[in-house]
Amino acid sequence: MKTTIIGYPRIGNLRELKFASEKYFRGEIMASGLEKTAREIRNYNLEIQKKSGLDFIPSNDFSYYDGVLDTAFLLNAVPERYTSLGLSKLDTYFAAARGYQGENGDVKALAMKKWYNTNYHYMVPEIEDSTEIKLAGTKPFELFSEALEVGVKTKPVIVGAYTFLKLARYKGSKMAVDFAEQTAAAYCEILKKFSRLGAEWIQFDEPSLVKDMTSEDIKLFVSLYERILPHKGSVKVIVQTYFGDVRDCYNELCGLDIDGIGLDFTEGKKTIELVKANGFPEEKTLFAGVVNGKNIWRNNYASTLLILSELEKHSHDIVINTSCSLLHVPCTLANETKLEERYKKHFAYAEEKLAELAELKKITVSHSPAETDEYRRNSALHSEPRTGGNEVVRKKVAELTEKDFVRLPEFTERERIQKERFRLPLFPTTTIGSFPQTAEVKSARNAHRKGELSDGDYEFFIEKKIAECIALQEEIGLDVLVHGEFERNDMVEYFGECLDGYLFTEKAWVQSYGTRCVKPPVVWGDISRAKPMTVRWSVYAQSLTDKPMKGMLTGPVTILNWSFPREDISLRESALQIALAIREEVLDLEANGISIIQVDEAALREKLPLRRSDWREDYLDWAIPAFRYVHSGVKPETQIHTHMCYSEFADIIRDIDDMDADVITFEASRSDLTILDVLKENNFRTEVGPGVYDIHSPRVPSKDEIKTAIERMRERIPAEKLWVNPDCGLKTRGNEETVPSLKNLVSAAKEARNENC
Ligand code: GLN
Ligand code: ZN
Repeated sequence: MKTTIIGYPRIGNLRELKFASEKYFRGEIMASGLEKTAREIRNYNLEIQKKSGLDFIPSNDFSYYDGVLDTAFLLNAVPERYTSLGLSKLDTYFAAARGYQGENGDVKALAMKKWYNTNYHYMVPEIEDSTEIKLAGTKPFELFSEALEVGVKTKPVIVGAYTFLKLARYKGSKMAVDFAEQTAAAYCEILKKFSRLGAEWIQFDEPSLVKDMTSEDIKLFVSLYERILPHKGSVKVIVQTYFGDVRDCYNELCGLDIDGIGLDFTEGKKTIELVKANGFPEEKTLFAGVVNGKNIWRNNYASTLLILSELEKHSHDIVINTSCSLLHVPCTLANETKLEERYKKHFAYAEEKLAELAELKKITVSHSPAETDEYRRNSALHSEPRTGGNEVVRKKVAELTEKDFVRLPEFTERERIQKERFRLPLFPTTTIGSFPQTAEVKSARNAHRKGELSDGDYEFFIEKKIAECIALQEEIGLDVLVHGEFERNDMVEYFGECLDGYLFTEKAWVQSYGTRCVKPPVVWGDISRAKPMTVRWSVYAQSLTDKPMKGMLTGPVTILNWSFPREDISLRESALQIALAIREEVLDLEANGISIIQVDEAALREKLPLRRSDWREDYLDWAIPAFRYVHSGVKPETQIHTHMCYSEFADIIRDIDDMDADVITFEASRSDLTILDVLKENNFRTEVGPGVYDIHSPRVPSKDEIKTAIERMRERIPAEKLWVNPDCGLKTRGNEETVPSLKNLVSAAKEARNENC
């Protein structure tokens, strides 16, 4: 058996790409400097993949910002508002990714959405009726040639035609099918070019095939490939799927004239059944995703060999593969110097997964696999008993009953009581929690970590920042204040550090979007609250102002979704364990005089199963109750907020209402406020703060722009239910943009308020 991977992380072991890009954005280095870093990362990645013995090494998995955005540029699907700025190629690309505000114009970024059920985000291509899809870029070819120069004939990876058309947003009256012919023609050109360059294999990523497909979708998919494949020449085509199984189109997929099919045996609940029931086409190569590309635990060779031996009954040409791109795991354990060996030996990041693939290959060619050292070592590791159990927590979770998930009195009564208590003006203004994490804040935290700044000095520093933040918010005139979250590196890691059962990494960065990376903590044992987590900061902050101060917590579903989860207990069990701990914190805040508590569920939508039929049972049936449990014990006059970001939640809008929060704030500006119609249609009960401007972009929204957003909201949402806020936390922004943006926000809300009276 041979080996391959679907893609490798591109940020660099120490996030070199992030730092170089940010320098470039700040004008500190030239494009050539950024390109140099990018080339070094690519070369390094090639080198280690080659060294590991991987048989098919991907190329074009590199991106300056996002692979879908790259594909949009490759296919000429770039809105004119970017191309007409008159910027360089690279800057036009970054303008689409991040928005642009400067001498050449003022444009917003493309919308950004979560990549299937991951915490990666892609840029949504916009296709207008006038868009002409055609091959317009050279990047995949250049990267193929670049690798060839250092002696590696790679397997280029490109987002497939079907997935591209499904991910795009159509601005006019034309739909995906109307672009099928042009798109297919562009992919034919891609194949022809690769054929000329001497590529042997090309991988088209088609994760959209694991979603529910209508008969129209299947038709579109088949018709695209029937048009493309006659032009493949000498290139062999792999259609690569991941994040699930292809139950809706397995037979159509097998019927295509492709040379390889990539299937996910890790997350695809039905993948093995599909192969068993339908067989696998004899002339094709099966790229078997058996090494989990999303989690950091070592592969269990015994289980993997079981799958592989089952597959061998159906295919004599199997390539051992990861379940998805390794983009979703950190680069290397080599830089985890602090993690104890007794834990670390259970971990495998991208580089270690390469080694696992090599070991699996070695084991499968051996005459007695179970006798190999690699196999023996692996089984010994997996048979060690797991530490970190907590009987008390397990018992509490087991004893939860229906009424533990219900907050009383019911919503309308609470709303009345709270209006009376807070007496906020119409369209109350607030922010989502964090304020800019300036260089000063980061360097103080680093110094504290390194022991150069004492606990006392660090706490003093945080208090000073909180005081400044409150003074600033009072000056700006916001109604409900926040303490600014300066004590937090990250909204999940911070809580993980205060919880028993979590493990931490130092350099386990995973790309979230563009230059933003996250460092998910690891759920190791049963979770419990070791100590109060936020109380002292919120109480201190509240002592400095008469305005209400929102306590700020991360919810159980988000904490779990943004961690690397255990695989030995269910997600439901882990979520409820975390809910227990967060509930203790909520009650502690309330007991200490905090009257508004926000429990962020930024990532609630993220792990919603990709197929509708799995939504309830596999997810919502425990995720919504876990959130409800967190706040079901507070008094009626305590106001519970929640916040969710960049997602489409139209389809679970009732479940969101059912979380039974008093107020929800969410991203709306990047999606053109389309969510408002959904709220109206569903008679949404929770008070809402649809974000009035996009904080992911450095541009400053004008007062009028915000005013227009408020007016649009007013048309659909009763005034007394409406809040005015940015669409997410401000930690990634600088004060230069934040202060004027918030001033404009407050003036816009005041104007709207006056006009309403
Ligand atoms: N309260 C968090 C913040 O303001 C929420 C972040 C998020 O939604 N991603 O940073
Ligand atoms: Zn957010």
